[in-house]
Amino acid sequence: MQEFILDIPTDAVTLAEAVAWAQEKLSQKRPHFIASVNPEICLSARRNSTLQAALLAADLRIPDGIGIVLASRLCGGQIRERVTGIDLMEELVALAAAEGKKVFLFGAAEGVATAAASKLKERYPSLLVAGTAHGYLPQAADEEIACDIAASGADMVFVALGSPRQELFVAKHGAASGAKLLMVVGGSFDVLSGRLKRAPLLYQRLGLEWFYRLIQQPKRILRVRIMPAFLAAVTQQRLFTSGRRQC
Ligand code: UDP
Repeated sequence: MQEFILDIPTDAVTLAEAVAWAQEKLSQKRPHFIASVNPEICLSARRNSTLQAALLAADLRIPDGIGIVLASRLCGGQIRERVTGIDLMEELVALAAAEGKKVFLFGAAEGVATAAASKLKERYPSLLVAGTAHGYLPQAADEEIACDIAASGADMVFVALGSPRQELFVAKHGAASGAKLLMVVGGSFDVLSGRLKRAPLLYQRLGLEWFYRLIQQPKRILRVRIMPAFLAAVTQQRLFTSGRRQC
C-alpha cells in the first residue's frame, strides 16, 4: 500500500517486506530502484521537478525518517515504523552474501566506500564485492562510472552521493549499470566504514536518531530545521485534500 506524502507515493512497508520485495526483484530482468522518502526530500521534490520525476520513477520508496511516520499519523495513514536506508542496505548485503550476488558501493569521500566494503566483508565473508568508487568525481564522470559498474557485473548497487545527486544518478544511469537492484543510501557508507557512529538503539527506538546525527554533525541543523515547515505543509495539504489518502 502507498501513502502520498506531499505528493510523493511512499510505500507502507516493514523492513522484512522491503527485503522480500528486493529478493523477488533480483530474479527479474529489468533493474529496480529503491528510493528513500524523508521530510527533506519531500520538500525539495516540490521545488525540483527532476528529483520529483526520479522519485516517481522509483519502484519502492521506503519511509525513511521519523518525520514520515509523523506525517502518516497526521493523515490517518498506516506507516508505523521507519525503514532506514542503512538497515535495508545491511539486510540486502546479507541477502547478496547468502545468494552469491555481487555488490557495488558508489559514493562518499575517497576511501570510505572501500573501507565500508572491507567491514562488510568481515561480517559476511562470502560477500562478493564487484567494486567501489568514491563520490567526489565530477558529475561528467557518472556515465563512465555506470559503465564501470556494468563491467564489474554487479547485481546490487548502493549509491551514497547525497540527495538529489544520488536519485538523479540512479534515474539517469541505473539502467546502463546493468544491475538488478539500485538503492540510494545517503550517509550509510560513513557509518558502515566506521567513520561515523550510528545512534544507539535507544535513540533509534525513540525516533531520535536525527538528534544523535546532529550532535555528530552540527551542520545538519540546516537540514533538521525544515521539520516544522514539513509538518505544516503536510497539515495544510491534509486540510485541502479529499479523496485519495494524501498528505
Ligand atoms: N557525497 C558524495 N558526493 C557528493 C556529496 C556527498 O559522495 O558530491 C556523500 C557524502 O560524503 C556522504 C553522502 O554522500 O557520505 C551523503 O550523506 P548525508 O549524511 O548527507 O545523507 P543522508 O543520510 O542524510 O541522506
